Amino acid sequence: MSSAPARQDPPTDPHSPGVDDEASAFTDLGLRAELLGALSALGYEEPTPIQREAIPPLLAGRDLLGQAATGTGKTAAFALPLLQRMPDGRTGGEPVALVLVPTRELAVQVSEAFHRYGKDLGARVLPIYGGQPIGRQLRALDLGVDVVVATPGRALDHIARGTLRLGGLATVVLDEADEMLDMGFAEDIEAILEHAPQQRQTVLFSATMPSRIDGMARQHLTDPVRIQIGREQPVAGETPRVRQSAYIVARAHKPAALGRVLDVESPTAAIVFCRSREEVDRLTETMNGRGYRAEALHGGMSQEQRDRVMGRLRAGTADLLVATDVAARGLDVEQLTHVVNYDVPSAPESYVHRIGRVGRAGREGVAITLAEPREHRMLKTIERVTGQRIAIDKIPTVADLRTRRLELTQAALRESLLEDDLEPFRVIVESLSDEFDMMEVALAAVKLAHEAASPGSDDDEEEIPQVAVRPQREGRPGQEGRGGERRPGRPRSGGTTQVFIGLGRRAGVRPQDLVGAITGETRVSGRDIGSIEIADRFSLVEVPAAVVDEVIAGLRNSTIKGRKTTVRRDRDRP
Ligand code: AMP
Repeated sequence: MSSAPARQDPPTDPHSPGVDDEASAFTDLGLRAELLGALSALGYEEPTPIQREAIPPLLAGRDLLGQAATGTGKTAAFALPLLQRMPDGRTGGEPVALVLVPTRELAVQVSEAFHRYGKDLGARVLPIYGGQPIGRQLRALDLGVDVVVATPGRALDHIARGTLRLGGLATVVLDEADEMLDMGFAEDIEAILEHAPQQRQTVLFSATMPSRIDGMARQHLTDPVRIQIGREQPVAGETPRVRQSAYIVARAHKPAALGRVLDVESPTAAIVFCRSREEVDRLTETMNGRGYRAEALHGGMSQEQRDRVMGRLRAGTADLLVATDVAARGLDVEQLTHVVNYDVPSAPESYVHRIGRVGRAGREGVAITLAEPREHRMLKTIERVTGQRIAIDKIPTVADLRTRRLELTQAALRESLLEDDLEPFRVIVESLSDEFDMMEVALAAVKLAHEAASPGSDDDEEEIPQVAVRPQREGRPGQEGRGGERRPGRPRSGGTTQVFIGLGRRAGVRPQDLVGAITGETRVSGRDIGSIEIADRFSLVEVPAAVVDEVIAGLRNSTIKGRKTTVRRDRDRP
């Protein structure tokens, strides 16, 4: 018999994460009390790798070039130092920091993050993007803001109007720079940076590092610190052999998706990892409300509370442990069959650590990751670093669940048939067989067994929307953009309309320029855009009829390849 491979458990001390022994707690990074207070209120237990590496040099005023995808915690990595460096007691005045982001959605998300982290410092943060009434932006700019988070097109509009002045900037952040280039914002970014003071801190984050990003960094960054998340190759053999899969699911549907996955997988015991204490508490409550026996485990709990929770898991009175990374350190539960990442872990090392909780000593283990659409890229990074494939599966449908429940009932019946304790029930079957066909009797018995094993009807189950994954670039140097002149359209409900744009191939327009202009300046997402045709002197873009006016207004308001042009409904087509 082969013995279990020797395993090094990570230390249980929350201040020694075993990933990096430089600075392992937020308090070690030199952050001020107001920021530490905000982080603790948010339930962040420790910095993510990118935060650990980026915060000290950014606090020291260095430029930084970071390769990191969404899900690594990069927003806090640049937001926290920026907030800390903001002069105290500012009122009125021009912004001290400008963050450029590719989309409206990200502008909102990043400003919310700034608000959350900077509320005790009284930071005034303003998102600026197309499609939002300009009056509100003008009023806020007039009153004075500290941090502006903007899409390049709209930022440039405000600069041209004289309503956004960059003379007081201490820091410029280019977030998701590769996306911004793909969307055709290169010229806008250059123009914006020309208005910023020479003496400033410049921070560039990008999920991939094609040569254009390198060129941009060389031109605009001075002696930058370089950080790459996911560069370390986990030691061979460190990644356990575990069935690994992922589901792409919108945030709002995550609890339902988790429930569905658990129902279909029916784990003996599972651990669900969350990023923060707050999320652990919220999810535990939600899952208990949905009828699962979930227990929370996080760094804010006493040893006694933790022991109680572990006891319940071992005794089988709980079947779900919802935990943060810190709390789960050193945890060894023999019954564990499943690890679920409720969020994509912030670094490949952390993924490897988490899934190492199962698949031990030759037992089968399953690791499931719920990723939001934007985090798809981080999954790819994890695959690359671990050298293991993470299959993207469809969220099981109600029909899948029904099939699975029937399979479980069948397996239970088979087991019962193989046992030798059916005699006491013979009298029932015999007496019923006088009156009914044996098949009918068996069917009724199966129904009762099935209903007892899976209480609640399948009809109560909701269908969870599947999210189509947008094709992602793999980040090979030199390869940029979606490429191609025509993207196949998708049939859509509610009808579509063609928009005519008076610039085409001669003006250097590429599909990504049009997608970028639309998604950057309106609420329309790339997924909603249908076919794109680029002729020599004009382009046609198919968009949902319901948003055509917004798209036209947004495009008229912005520039494409740095130029204003005619935008209207296509006359020849609906
Ligand atoms: P980002 O990669 O910046 O989009 O961040 C991904 C998510 O991680 C966001 O929901 C953040 O609120 C969360 N997050 C960032 N840093 C931490 C941390 N140190 N601990 C827990 N959650 C974090």
